[in-house]
Amino acid sequence: MVAPRHRSRSKKRVHKRVPGGATKLRFEARKPKVAKCGSCGRALRGIPRLGNAAAKNTPKSKKTVARAYGGSLCPACLRAKLKSQIRGQ
Ligand SMILES: [Zn+2]
Repeated sequence: MVAPRHRSRSKKRVHKRVPGGATKLRFEARKPKVAKCGSCGRALRGIPRLGNAAAKNTPKSKKTVARAYGGSLCPACLRAKLKSQIRGQ
């Protein structure tokens, strides 16, 4: 049986081949969920699924989209939002 600290499913179980040829069970952190549009909930493109440690060492330009509301709204929702703002609705 695995160690008590590994009985939780919060870590992903990965079978890894070690240099000796045997397969060992490793426990790895799960990836965060895909970034979603704040309005329609569709998955956003161009936003990587990085954990805290990886996000810290990644430039901001690679973690977001260079556009107004980039990384929080999808292009279709942004277009609709801008149109409604311009029309004063
Ligand atoms: Zn959207």
